[in-house]
Amino acid sequence: MTLTEPAAVPAFPFDTEERRALREAVGALGRRYGAGYLRERARKGESSDELWHEAGRLGYLGVSLPEEYGGGGGGIADLVVVLEELATAGCPLLLLVVTPAICGSIIARFGTEQQKRRHLPGFADGTVRMAFGITEPDAGSNSHRITTTARRDGADWILNGRKVFISAVDTCDSVMVVARTEDARTGKLKPALFIVPRETPGFEYRAIPMEIVSPERQFQLFFDEVRLPADALVGDEDAALLQLFAGLNPERIMVAAFATGIARYALDKAVDYAKSRVVFKDPIGAHQGLAHPLAQCRIELELARLMMQKAALLNDSGDDVGAGEAANMAKYAAAEAAVHSVDQAVQTLGGNGLTEEYGLGALITVSRVTRVAPVSREMILNYVAQHTLGLPKSY
Ligand SMILES: Cc1cc2nc3c(=O)[nH]c(=O)nc-3n(C[C@H](O)[C@H](O)[C@H](O)COP(=O)(O)OP(=O)(O)OC[C@H]3O[C@@H](n4cnc5c(N)ncnc54)[C@H](O)[C@@H]3O)c2cc1C
Repeated sequence: MTLTEPAAVPAFPFDTEERRALREAVGALGRRYGAGYLRERARKGESSDELWHEAGRLGYLGVSLPEEYGGGGGGIADLVVVLEELATAGCPLLLLVVTPAICGSIIARFGTEQQKRRHLPGFADGTVRMAFGITEPDAGSNSHRITTTARRDGADWILNGRKVFISAVDTCDSVMVVARTEDARTGKLKPALFIVPRETPGFEYRAIPMEIVSPERQFQLFFDEVRLPADALVGDEDAALLQLFAGLNPERIMVAAFATGIARYALDKAVDYAKSRVVFKDPIGAHQGLAHPLAQCRIELELARLMMQKAALLNDSGDDVGAGEAANMAKYAAAEAAVHSVDQAVQTLGGNGLTEEYGLGALITVSRVTRVAPVSREMILNYVAQHTLGLPKSY
């Protein structure tokens, strides 16, 4: 039995009957497309639109969004299942982390009625996509240093600045941009969120050549005197950090789902291969030199999944602080599980680990991304050292 078969997913209260059914249905969709689909699209520089749109039509992209705006009325715990199962089937759709999880969560919680009606139904059925941009070239992990600035001009906003490594902008209708506004009373800059349609004059984007086999490309963004209407601002100008974390916790939890799915995919391939490949007298999986590292990977994977599920449930219960700590830990653990599992899978397959046919080589960089983004391993260790352990801040 392999991990991709639904019955191999360990029974745990997280999987309600509904979530188990969702897991099975999404897994079946992912297996119908298979890993070859995404790799082929990525290598040709094409999008994975068919899978995105089909997942939208089937209601999978909108599981976490409110029912009154076309969603399934569930939470991030349900969206985690969707991404984990697609990734396990070889179809890790990165934009699931962005459009429904970050942008959808923020708009559903803090958007105006009009913003909810304008964006959420399209997010849910897959017809509207939104990217998310916080990272800047001169700020990197230190988002307190972002300089993209919005100033008022009558009722409008004028946006200036730059972003880097923003995913899938070319396939999105708009970008949710983290910028700073000037506080009218103190003159200090504070973060605020703006929705910028892709075709807005003054907004340009340029692809960054990356060594990642994925249909979702990364972009540099340039905002030069971009004029936005008053309702481009999402939520309250004064509650930006709270609003931001309403999106960043789901983002980390969803990257954990992306990573655990990749780990499951890689382990599946490795275990199947180790059972059948014979070079001396027994299958190579009989050698403890291969069996033990695979067993370690499976343990790391299950621990990461548990923390991801805890983080998702905390998030959906409205405990943003508890979810923040768990989401960081889950992202850390899942990224490590993905990097180790992919590496060990490549080793298990020997030369075949690096052939296109088995698709593991391409996952080396994809899994490595999860250690860097959306928040690096080191920044999570900083967070846990400071906030969980109460150690002095070192930077
Ligand atoms: C494929 C991909 C997709 C992405 N998609 C998006 C997106 O859609 N939207 C978006 O906004 N961003 C996106 N990012 C950006 C991503 O979030 C950043 O790359 C990440 O936050 C790290 O920032 P940086 O690359 O500037 O690295 P830096 O901040 O320059 O860090 C470089 C290294 O220094 C370490 N470091 C820095 N400060 C400390 C410290 N105090 N203590 C210890 N170590 C430290 C870091 O951990 C890292 O290892 C994406 C990145 C990638 C690779």
